[in-house]
Amino acid sequence: MNCTACSTGQLAPCFLEPGLRAHECNHCGGHWLYVEDVVQWKAGGGKLGELDQMPEVEETASALTCPVTGRLMQKYRIVSGSSHKLDYSPHTGGLWLDKGEWSLLKEYALAGSVGNIVTEHWQRKIRTEDAKASLEAVYRRKFGEANYRKLAEIRNWLADQENCAEMRAFLLARDPYSGR
Ligand SMILES: [Zn+2]
Repeated sequence: MNCTACSTGQLAPCFLEPGLRAHECNHCGGHWLYVEDVVQWKAGGGKLGELDQMPEVEETASALTCPVTGRLMQKYRIVSGSSHKLDYSPHTGGLWLDKGEWSLLKEYALAGSVGNIVTEHWQRKIRTEDAKASLEAVYRRKFGEANYRKLAEIRNWLADQENCAEMRAFLLARDPYSGR
């Protein structure tokens, strides 16, 4: 099988983990693996090896074609706050991982459940987290770091109080001692 990522190498059978079959490109070092193989490997008691050192992770920005069908693959983001994406071939259930991305998945504790990433549910979760993170950044900028932290702390503390509604009213009232 020819590598569609670098267009130079060949995809040769390999093991990503003991017992987990995949293909590795002998030129760019990327991997081709099937979600189904990961599921079966895990069901069969497959265990992820230790991640000793985080390698440099590469990223193919351009659209890739599936090495099996030649059709365009779809890109799926891995986690919020990271630009890394997996390329997925929905027709074959195959995944393309750029060099180092398997280790990245292990780092995020997602390697064993990599099939979850290529679901609408996961992608929606990433978008929600992104939106939350960007709002948080807006607050930090607006209030200043120290004030933001203090406010967030008070907010969390307040939410835990039994008479939280009254406390909030107390905080927001122009003059809580006027009795009006
Ligand atoms: Zn390659």
